[in-house]
Amino acid sequence: MDNPIIGITGNLCVVDNDAHFNGMKRSFLNQDYLDLVSKSGAVPVILPVTDPSRKALTEQMVRHVDAVLLSGGYDISPSFYGEEALPHLGYSMKIIDSFYFDVIRFAEQYQKPVFGICKGMQALNVFYGGTLYQDISSQKPGGLQHCQAASYQEESHKAALEPDSFLFSSFGETQIWVNSHHHQAVRIPAPGFRITARASDGIAEGMERMDGVPLIGVQWHPEMMAGGGSQEQQKLFGDFTALLK
Ligand code: MN
Repeated sequence: MDNPIIGITGNLCVVDNDAHFNGMKRSFLNQDYLDLVSKSGAVPVILPVTDPSRKALTEQMVRHVDAVLLSGGYDISPSFYGEEALPHLGYSMKIIDSFYFDVIRFAEQYQKPVFGICKGMQALNVFYGGTLYQDISSQKPGGLQHCQAASYQEESHKAALEPDSFLFSSFGETQIWVNSHHHQAVRIPAPGFRITARASDGIAEGMERMDGVPLIGVQWHPEMMAGGGSQEQQKLFGDFTALLK
């Protein structure tokens, strides 16, 4: 049997460090995502950000993969959950957010499992009707450092896992250490989802909707930790890929 194909949402940046190409949009994806998928035994394919006016193309992309990995990225525009921008909202590009929501919509339509990382988890939450903290430290002060100063793959804080969750079944422990590269977070969880991992300050670090086609989100970056040598974080994604076989 062929290996499953996992489509990973690509990202867009505006070039600002190349005299010849400054101001141009460029597609990119951190290599760690591709390594995470290929080491799990699946074929990684990048799904490039596609204009929302060409939904049929996005639909075809999603139809041809076996599952979707929503990668991390910029902030999600709060207009998508009915809020105006607060002072500490970060950079966002609505075209990327719209693409993510199209991918999720077609994944739902064609029954493709979804694994969301960081912004990917937040996008799942917003798409299915939840809200976000636009900025944790100003809206929920007094907590942990979620925008870690340490090197990207290093552990930063703990996450408590819910028994009877996909995350717990993968790690086999109720407390794990994770890295943390986010200043936004899930605030009101979307209907039908369970928060299955939490930091000690209450911030949601993982969510799941497992009745039906699996939808799993983590707020940390397993691909970076796996790239840094964490076998547990590689196993986490391997356990997701195993659902496809
Ligand atoms: Mn965190």
